[in-house]
Amino acid sequence: MTTVGHFINGQLTTDGERTQDVYNPSTGAVSKQVVLASKATVEEAIAAAQAAFPAWRNTPAIKRARVMFKFKDLLEQNADKICQMIGEEHGKISHDAAGELQRGIENVEYACGAPELLKGEHSKNVAADVDSWSEFQPLGVVAGITPFNFPAMVPLWMYPMAIVCGNCFILKPSERDPSSTLYIASLLKEAGLPDGVMNVVNGDKEAVDTLLHDEHIKAVSFVGSTPIAEYIYATASANGKRCQALGGAKNHAIVMPDADMDNAVNQLLGAAFGSSGERCMALSVAVAVGDAAGDALVSKMTAAMKALKVGPFNDSNNDFGPVITQQHQQKVVGYIDSAEQQGATIVVDGRKPEIAGHEKGFFVGGTLIDGVTAEMESYKAEIFGPVLQVIRVDSMQAAMDLIDAHEYGNGTCIFTRDGEAARYFSDNIQVGMVGINIPLPVPVAYHSFGGWKRSLFGDLHAYGPDAVRFYTKRKTITQRWPSAGVREGVLFSMPTMS
Ligand code: NAD
Repeated sequence: MTTVGHFINGQLTTDGERTQDVYNPSTGAVSKQVVLASKATVEEAIAAAQAAFPAWRNTPAIKRARVMFKFKDLLEQNADKICQMIGEEHGKISHDAAGELQRGIENVEYACGAPELLKGEHSKNVAADVDSWSEFQPLGVVAGITPFNFPAMVPLWMYPMAIVCGNCFILKPSERDPSSTLYIASLLKEAGLPDGVMNVVNGDKEAVDTLLHDEHIKAVSFVGSTPIAEYIYATASANGKRCQALGGAKNHAIVMPDADMDNAVNQLLGAAFGSSGERCMALSVAVAVGDAAGDALVSKMTAAMKALKVGPFNDSNNDFGPVITQQHQQKVVGYIDSAEQQGATIVVDGRKPEIAGHEKGFFVGGTLIDGVTAEMESYKAEIFGPVLQVIRVDSMQAAMDLIDAHEYGNGTCIFTRDGEAARYFSDNIQVGMVGINIPLPVPVAYHSFGGWKRSLFGDLHAYGPDAVRFYTKRKTITQRWPSAGVREGVLFSMPTMS
């Protein structure tokens, strides 16, 4: 059986005694073993990064950016192979994996602009003959810890920017689907990156805790569930590290009475069920304003869901694949059960999908639940499965109050034809990323990504302009070159202030 190891100092290794099974969620079978790094292995990666840092820090930004140009090319050349790896371990259908990879590549493209992004700020003559400027220097060795749901894209949110800013990087990807992440990182060597600048250690809590406590790690970027994000942020901060920790989500779409309902249903279908709902920006709650909108939404959605196709990743006719593990499948089904027990109506029931030939796969079919209330467990929790819940309210203000009261504030959206309502919504809602008739308002690579409330711990958002600030420290230099007489010639008279 294939063993997935680490990428340390430019070499693929399989050091470590502990291993964990990696599944093919479409079949339910164990396909690989991933090696879980020990403290010593993580320290080896940190030492390699430390050794690479002085030369990399002094490499001109344009040369660092050139590595990213080649890296982008290699990602495109190897896209099919990468998408296959993602599908085998995550379960994502190839068209969805291709979308994930493309969004990741866009972060590499942004990183290619390093010379422009790192230009700094300059003010001439802040006082007579005094100039002042700020430059943005790398931090040193920085770390990233990433979730299973975007094994290519989320790591690419982090290390291209960290590296072009002059840092060395240690990535600890999800142990549940590690192959594509490891393969992609190893392409950086082919792109010309010096050994030690980028390192990948697979592992679990032991590896993460080593990174959080090691004094050489200057910053930690985390993306994952909220309880772990809180732990990472608290521990990294207590150890004097800069930290941004992006957590979980519960994303609501308001469906206004004037919305184009057919369009809203189409958009909701993709945003709720795409990638089996395992996206931190998935729309998992539709808030219908008024019963007429609620009835129309539920009836049109029920009809549309008849065409939904769930099945294995390697059939591109499928709309979405399995969830990540059997344990997660049971958790999602448990939330549907609890909604039913607490009085909601399961309008479309995906608890027992029949996928011929894939009976042991971790599948959950698209599920629609009506009559949900804010008190239900299924509403409070992030289900992270192909489940859309409908809540009915009387007014847009009630819909906004509901969204604002939820602990998460990652993404949200409004479907309406009323520009003023949309403007009021985007201006006032307590959520970090807002869509207006756009269901998944994931910012493009040249903006930054981040939620509010318990969806993000830290000050700066991920990628884009905020990444330049996160991965550098500002140094401000003020200079004056008083005349020493070289230009004016030698002065023999007594110097006076004039
Ligand atoms: P997770 O929190 O279980 O794991 C994330 C990372 O943390 C993994 O690398 C994992 O190995 C590590 N980890 C897990 N338990 C740990 C522990 N006890 N101590 C230290 N490290 C630990 O998340 P997941 O299930 O892989 O991913 C799904 C979650 O990620 C969802 O909550 C989703 O909303 C969230 N997510 C958020 C965003 C965002 O941008 N806000 C993006 C993608 C995913």
